[in-house]
Amino acid sequence: MYAIAATDPPLLFNKFLATQRGIIGAEHVAQVICQDNPDFETYLCRTCEYWNTPGAMITHLKSEKHQLNHMRKKFKDQFHKIQVARKRNRQGLIDQYIKYISLVEIPKIEKRMKAALNVEILLKIWPKFLQELDESWKNFEGMKIFFF
Ligand SMILES: [Zn+2]
Repeated sequence: MYAIAATDPPLLFNKFLATQRGIIGAEHVAQVICQDNPDFETYLCRTCEYWNTPGAMITHLKSEKHQLNHMRKKFKDQFHKIQVARKRNRQGLIDQYIKYISLVEIPKIEKRMKAALNVEILLKIWPKFLQELDESWKNFEGMKIFFF
């Protein structure tokens, strides 16, 4: 794993994250590119040891499981308060902390890994990869132009 060079073109995924609210813990996510086809990008959340396509990673980053895992590691006080909160206050606390953390963190992927597998092997171990590689999230730039 290595840092994505500042001279590299900015990740479209990062541009997308910048348009989203409430994303936390993105700094522990690495882009994984296939050795022989960099267009086949997937993402690995090192906090949760979760590896999936970009679309699924967006869903993952917004999931309570990821949010709590991130807080358990980096925002221990807040995590503890959620753990001891009454059930009816729990969601409100989570929402409040997500709002706060997403303001102090810049949601940005800065690490890249090269998968030790080539496309042929990737498709063997992940036969549905191409079906699951939903590219619809990439349309956000066009949508922005449409809505603003
Ligand atoms: Zn995660």
